[in-house]
Amino acid sequence: MSSLVGPDEDVERGKPPVPEEVQAAIRTLIEWAGDDPTREGLLDTPKRVARAWKEYCLGYEEDPAVHLSRVFEEVGGYDEIVLLKDIPFQSHCEHHMAPIIGKAAIAYLPNDHVVGISKLARVLHGFARRLQIQERLTAEVAQCIQEHLKPQGVAVVIEASHACMTARGVRTPGVSMVTSRMMGIFREDERSRKEVLSLMGY
Ligand SMILES: [Zn+2]
Repeated sequence: MSSLVGPDEDVERGKPPVPEEVQAAIRTLIEWAGDDPTREGLLDTPKRVARAWKEYCLGYEEDPAVHLSRVFEEVGGYDEIVLLKDIPFQSHCEHHMAPIIGKAAIAYLPNDHVVGISKLARVLHGFARRLQIQERLTAEVAQCIQEHLKPQGVAVVIEASHACMTARGVRTPGVSMVTSRMMGIFREDERSRKEVLSLMGY
């Protein structure tokens, strides 16, 4: 990945240069799919696709745990579940590199500190912007929060549809997959688990 090609105007517009090998790979894919990569409408497609993939995979450039480094100790005696739900996200399956589109619910029972609520969504996006399987995404989000926030428990439920299933293969639009990961009190105590799932709407 050494040769950086691309007209200077791209660099001027602040877009990252795309190595020639990467563009060539996408041209090969276009040809394999049955089209002609040299026709006008497809000329800039390799560069666009390459940049889009950098964006889909921005998660590789961050450690999602950084979003949990700033905590608030003053919780005003609050000792109940904190829940962020219906968080939309997009990821890509590692088997087909096809979109996974869905929403997540993330909850935790604080010990003595909390994080800014948007941080939970940032942790999710940090792991989602990689090649994933939904099961691992669910587990990674829960594990990261449990490890770095050290709450009494974490519950993560993800519901998503997989383009590799809805747009190809068995072609079943409307089907969604649900995965969950319970840790700490939500794993050990059935009442707490039921409570958090009911708050999430399950
Ligand atoms: Zn897939």
